[in-house]
Amino acid sequence: MKKFALIGAAGYIAPRHMQAIKATGNELVAAYDPNDSVGIIDSHFPEAHFFTEFERFDRHVDKLHRQAENKKIDFMSICSPNYLHDSHMRFALRSGADAICEKPLVLNPWNIDGLLEIEKDTGHKVNTILQLRVHPAIVALREKVKSQPRDKKYEVDLTYITSRGKWYLQSWKGDINKSGGIATNIGVHFFDMLHFIFGDLQQNIVHHVSETKSSGFLEYENARVRWFLSIDLEDVPADILATGQRTFRSITVDGEDIEFSGGFTDLHNRSYEQILAGNGFGLEENRTAISTVAHIRDAQPIGLQGDYHPFLS
Ligand code: NAD
Repeated sequence: MKKFALIGAAGYIAPRHMQAIKATGNELVAAYDPNDSVGIIDSHFPEAHFFTEFERFDRHVDKLHRQAENKKIDFMSICSPNYLHDSHMRFALRSGADAICEKPLVLNPWNIDGLLEIEKDTGHKVNTILQLRVHPAIVALREKVKSQPRDKKYEVDLTYITSRGKWYLQSWKGDINKSGGIATNIGVHFFDMLHFIFGDLQQNIVHHVSETKSSGFLEYENARVRWFLSIDLEDVPADILATGQRTFRSITVDGEDIEFSGGFTDLHNRSYEQILAGNGFGLEENRTAISTVAHIRDAQPIGLQGDYHPFLS
């Protein structure tokens, strides 16, 4: 049984990590969050220690590390806001644990280089949650693409509208310095998935960026992709809104819909199983997606020219 600590325990995604720790037969022994709304811990690990101050958490982790081999933390799961991930991963590795970090791993590709050095110095590893890579429909699509001629280019449209209330722009998620903006915070899942399926990135053109939506064109070895991401309810197509849904997710490949809306709920469990078996996705596997979103953040949008997504017009 492995011992886990959790950083960012009071947030939205933390319970999925608690569930995955439990489902894989392991134990959460310590958790930290500056916010103390963490009653959810009782549903999973009522015995876990909890800290609202980093220094006290650090003292506890350090004590466990020096007490005995069977007391030390094996894995630290990181569910804090995006801009803190690299610092929290450094803490995990220097504390003698492997890290399991939420997406996006970091905001900029050069943060990966520093972490690679710390992996080398400490002998501990960073694992990331790239959960679409373990989604059965995505794995099947990747296999299909691999079985086709190597120079085949698919025409892909990716549309993801996940409406969020006014709170979003008031929270750290709406602050580009903390979340990276919506292409980073929401899109990184999909940009990693596109790279995973269609190979190396060759071109990255940004047509539109605002606080609530972002759109562009990406060319991979095996695909030309028009993408559109939004958190604005007004972008949800009228027929979908009429059914009471506030989310619209569509990926078409050569005009054919890829159905992957089901099967999302246990992807954290699946990711944990892979990590515990030594098959976790590491730092380098994140580089393409992180470079993609960093470029989208910094690029000057070109407006409605070239291969822009139809939802933009
Ligand atoms: P959230 O705002 O609900 O939770 C973040 C938590 O971090 C809060 O409890 C907050 O108090 C805590 N926090 C703030 N500053 C901290 C600090 N200095 N040290 C430790 N904790 C601190 O956000 P969330 O939606 O749970 O997102 C957390 C992470 O999970 C983000 O990186 C996000 O991108 C990622 N996420 C992943 C998925 C997924 O499907 N894999 C879904 C949602 C969020």
